[in-house]
Amino acid sequence: MRPDPVFVITGPSGAGKGTLIRALLERVPVLEVAVSATTRPQRPGETDGVEYHFLDEHAFVARIEEGAFLEHVQYVSGKRYGTLRSEMQRVADDGRVCVLELELEGALRVQEEVEGSVTLFIAAPVEELERRLRERATESTGEIEDRIALARYQLEQAHRFRYMVRNDDLARATGTLTAIVEQELEFAATMAAS
Ligand code: 5GP
Repeated sequence: MRPDPVFVITGPSGAGKGTLIRALLERVPVLEVAVSATTRPQRPGETDGVEYHFLDEHAFVARIEEGAFLEHVQYVSGKRYGTLRSEMQRVADDGRVCVLELELEGALRVQEEVEGSVTLFIAAPVEELERRLRERATESTGEIEDRIALARYQLEQAHRFRYMVRNDDLARATGTLTAIVEQELEFAATMAAS
């Protein structure tokens, strides 16, 4: 039997992945985001267990050693992020379809390793990314520069993913993303029934 699809959404910081994913979840209620673990500090307005499971370095490394992560990376400024297998299982147990929001290397790893993964790269012009990161101002200036340099590199990697959605207009990008996801779900349901 074909596995259920797992939607992996990636793209540079500031491309609007978070906003797009929220809009997607409203339109396709069967989807649920698997909450990642991270060692980065909690931002104002974030809740432990909702945006992330916030762990300290020691706890994160212990989870790596237990084999708790499907994939994990060290991102800019050495902060760790990882996809918890237990979270993906929780989503499946709820009878829902899993969405992962990952940076590029993690998305490529899942694409290679998880049968049924459908990768979507969210792109936006670099100037737009820079403006959004500076407006959000949740990182230090040095860290924003690092994220912008990384974003330039990442935009060149878009071709490595199954789909690319350009987010220069939120309504249009939401429509495109929703259509792709619905098409993939329909395909998976048809294959499962045949
Ligand atoms: P932020 O610190 O802005 O919340 O996230 C930074 C980057 O980490 C984003 O590109 C986000 O997609 C990525 N990210 C979040 N969770 C994970 C994860 O579990 N694994 C990987 N590889 N990247 C993640």
